[in-house]
Amino acid sequence: MDGKRQLNSFQQLEKLGEGTYATVFKGRNRHTGEFVALKEIHLDSEEGTPSTAIREISLMKELKHENIVALHDVIHTESKLMLVFEYMDGDLKKYMDTHGDHGALKPMLIKSFMYQLLKGVDFCHQNRVLHRDLKPQNLLINSKGQLKLGDFGLARAFGIPVNTFSNEVVTLWYRAPDVLLGSRTYNTSIDIWSVGCIMAEMYSGRPLFPGTTNEDQMLRIFRIMGTPTEHTWPGISQFPEYKATVPRYPAQDLHQILPQIDPVGIDLLRKLLQLRPELRVSANDALQHPWFNDLIHHQQAAALQQQQQQVAAQQAALQSQARGGYQQQSAVGQQPSYENY
Ligand code: AMP
Repeated sequence: MDGKRQLNSFQQLEKLGEGTYATVFKGRNRHTGEFVALKEIHLDSEEGTPSTAIREISLMKELKHENIVALHDVIHTESKLMLVFEYMDGDLKKYMDTHGDHGALKPMLIKSFMYQLLKGVDFCHQNRVLHRDLKPQNLLINSKGQLKLGDFGLARAFGIPVNTFSNEVVTLWYRAPDVLLGSRTYNTSIDIWSVGCIMAEMYSGRPLFPGTTNEDQMLRIFRIMGTPTEHTWPGISQFPEYKATVPRYPAQDLHQILPQIDPVGIDLLRKLLQLRPELRVSANDALQHPWFNDLIHHQQAAALQQQQQQVAAQQAALQSQARGGYQQQSAVGQQPSYENY
């Protein structure tokens, strides 16, 4: 099917938001009635869609996981590129603003969101895909309490822009110190730093490091995590953006800064927010952290309870079927059948 006809199979509804690379609309599939999110990528009118970007994005269609927003289709016409995503009810930023207590969420919900976030990140990392721009705005949630990552792979397809299409500055708040220092060899650890920043923000309702420029962002990080030196981070002075003149701040106790977080949670946060990328915990190891033990027990107990309820409902249905059968049969003067028992 050509792009135009494919586009016509979706009715475009209201605008949902403006992202880094795209304007997002709610849409409806005219054939199935299913809601979707239509992401219209803004293309450079002169250059058109880079073919590498289309290849990268098409690969995302294969990235299927319950904590990743499903990409159903990529529609390409001469003038635009439209990505058709599974529809979600909103993003984490809006959720914190509307449901949070001054933006802060309840501890058990934070744990559930963190677990789902790490599961999605782990799946992508296992498939050698980095996000590079994780932030509350592109974590999407639905009314079932599911959290899914949006925009995976787009940064690789398009590069990390400085400005969004609507000319807002791309936020630096979740950017890892090695990236701020100008490292170009970053890997999966870049997303883990962002996960740490998001965890802190869900507890406090405020971004942990709300920097305004590259330098301000770095200083805010160092003020809390301590200024790294050649001694604590061998090779740091070789980074392009390293400045020997930055003030030497001592590391602060994260527990003092975020007293809302329990000690086990603080331990995980420390592992996520390691300044040196090679010391940052992997998503897979973070999922094994004892902080998640009670959540996993809770989920297992809930799954068991659900199973028990299903079995009880099946038994009740069988019994009522058998009774119905008995009444029907005796009504016509026959012997009851016990076949259903
Ligand atoms: P993004 O380009 O992913 O940053 O999208 C911008 C905004 O559009 C997000 O902050 C969401 O509010 C909304 N949005 C993006 N994707 C979806 C989706 N799949 N379902 C519902 N809303 C979405």
